[in-house]
Amino acid sequence: MCDRGVARRNSRERIEVVRTGAVCAESGSDAGRCAPEGDGGNRTRRHRRAVPQRCRKDAPIMTSTVLTGRGTFDRLAEIAEWDSRSVFVVASAGTVNRLRLDRVLPARARLFSQFRPNPTFEQALAAARARHECGARLVLGIGGGSALDVAKAARALPTEQSAAADVLDGRSAPLADARLVLVPTTAGPGSEVTQFAALYRGSRKFSLDSPGIKADAALVDPALTDGCGPAQTWSCAFDALAHAVESLWSTRSTPVSRTHAVAALTLLIPILRDADPVPSRTERDRLSEAAILAGRAIDLTRTTAAHALAYPLTSHLDVRHGHACALNLTWLATMVEAAEPGDLADARGPAAVASAITTLRRLFGADGRELGRVIQDLLVARGLPTRCPSDSGTELVETVVAEGLASNRISGTPIVLDPALVAAAVGDLLLARSGPCGNRAKELRDA
Ligand SMILES: [Zn+2]
Repeated sequence: MCDRGVARRNSRERIEVVRTGAVCAESGSDAGRCAPEGDGGNRTRRHRRAVPQRCRKDAPIMTSTVLTGRGTFDRLAEIAEWDSRSVFVVASAGTVNRLRLDRVLPARARLFSQFRPNPTFEQALAAARARHECGARLVLGIGGGSALDVAKAARALPTEQSAAADVLDGRSAPLADARLVLVPTTAGPGSEVTQFAALYRGSRKFSLDSPGIKADAALVDPALTDGCGPAQTWSCAFDALAHAVESLWSTRSTPVSRTHAVAALTLLIPILRDADPVPSRTERDRLSEAAILAGRAIDLTRTTAAHALAYPLTSHLDVRHGHACALNLTWLATMVEAAEPGDLADARGPAAVASAITTLRRLFGADGRELGRVIQDLLVARGLPTRCPSDSGTELVETVVAEGLASNRISGTPIVLDPALVAAAVGDLLLARSGPCGNRAKELRDA
């Protein structure tokens, strides 16, 4: 985050107008996606995307408004600015019922619910086609990370399959002919503040990733997470934890990203360690705040190998995303911590990785124990399994490792990953014969 203006509305609400530091792509990126340079925080939301112009290479592209605070969902109509526009709403049927959206949304709102957790490219394309069909100039995403990612795609993708694939693969710029407003109902993914969206093709995960993907406005009301059960709550919290840990040690970390990551972990770790099985309202407020901070951290750095190897665990074994990320952290954190200087991949040198690990050890209160063990204890404290045994055997391990290591998210990992060590660590998670996580990997490492 570069510049931001913060206006306190009252003791519970906060509005931040954020000018993104990201820059447009080289000329040839789509006209109409840039706001004029220089007045980011002062422009009205209504005019933010109104003036088509070609991106300048160094131009900040837009501002984003983030309204946070318990009870702020009541201000949805004001934030969404739907007045006379047609509204395209991406939300699951469960979210529609739980939040009584029929009472909240304008009568002409078009609802799209034909997506599932970990949405596919095809579902995203169907959302984009439905959005274009109704001519909506406002896309509203309400729900967990999957709903928000489909909403991002509904705004960004053209209707023709190959043109949409070009956007997904980064060959074309996303569309920007509608405003995008996101309302998370879970605390963890942080999709409301990031410039990317995860979509699956088969078991492979792909990212829409462009400054033009980011929402124009987000409304984060922690009260919307009050109905989340423990499994979903804690999996999402571990997702935010993984975002913060991976951003902190990323080879792309910056002073700003590290500040966000440390702030997120400072909020998250005591709650994951000490909270009751169902968090209090205050703890839910903090989880929402941490999710935003961790989201901003990975918006600058992207995630690393724990996420890269979590996507196949989710697609092949249905392990919840945040839980899968934390399972991978139990071995990866120990691997990063134990890496020799020759195994490091950070161009800034060993001191950068050492500093990140020292910070993590302090924040986690590691006290002479391996970081991976401490993270494992947090899983136990939240009642989540520390392994996910499968009957599929070594073939599945090979598939998970091959798909994970092929991900572009590997590139920010601060160590050079040895495929044999990764396979051993994933085998410890998946194979029925294994003991506690990391044993086989540790044996190989120490051999
Ligand atoms: Zn994640």
